[in-house]
Amino acid sequence: MKSSARFQRGLAQFSLLILLAFVAWQILHRSPSISSDVYPYLSSLSPALVKQCTEEKRTSSTILWEDLLAIRSTLSESDAQPLLDQLNVQVPFDDLNWAALSTKTIRTVQRHREILEHYTYYQPNRYTFPVIGTTWFEDSFGADREGGKRRHEGTDLFAKEGTLIVSICGGKIEQIGWNRLGGERVGIRGDDGNYYYYAHLQYISSMLVKGKRIEAGEPVGSMGHTGVALTTPDHLHFGIELANGQWINPYPFLAVWQYWGEKRSS
Ligand SMILES: [Zn+2]
Repeated sequence: MKSSARFQRGLAQFSLLILLAFVAWQILHRSPSISSDVYPYLSSLSPALVKQCTEEKRTSSTILWEDLLAIRSTLSESDAQPLLDQLNVQVPFDDLNWAALSTKTIRTVQRHREILEHYTYYQPNRYTFPVIGTTWFEDSFGADREGGKRRHEGTDLFAKEGTLIVSICGGKIEQIGWNRLGGERVGIRGDDGNYYYYAHLQYISSMLVKGKRIEAGEPVGSMGHTGVALTTPDHLHFGIELANGQWINPYPFLAVWQYWGEKRSS
């Protein structure tokens, strides 16, 4: 009887230990959580709107970029203007007179502003457009591939074979070399925590070493048609995977980075 009680206590302690180890493993290995409103909002901003705000910012230098974009992307023209008028005479965002706008609407604008501050895709000149020279691309995220077997998880940017491709941001080389779909491909863990995938390269830059750093604008390789792109026109497949494993649509960001890049060099 006594030994059976001891056995049971031992078993309970052992089970508890296993449970604790399991919980600890879960905590260590869970993917980072990203609020579900962040990327849907960022992806919903049209390149046209960001361009319009860029022009507007040039004529009203006192206004903060995040304030302008958050207001313009959330409110109608007539609701936005009185707020922008206040910001233009240097009323701080926190002291704005929101007039008849509902608390819910005000909270949405504030939340959008917070997202723009913490997630950097729309911070001017922070990212570099990856293709140097003339290129053509459209929004094909989610399109069927291999007869519906998989979906297109990126943007294809077309240009002449050999066109220089550069890193959009600073980061660390995480993957380099051949894989079946991507052909010659490079995967970079950006300083922002996201993973950037450059595929179908003709050549990978000989400067790149797995585990080493790369800076924004440094060569990744040259445009080609390797991997599943063997029979397609030369293009760069560019993908963005968030730290939680979700692939998002790079198209709106690319369109804006290209526009900012052209403005910078003109
Ligand atoms: Zn592609």
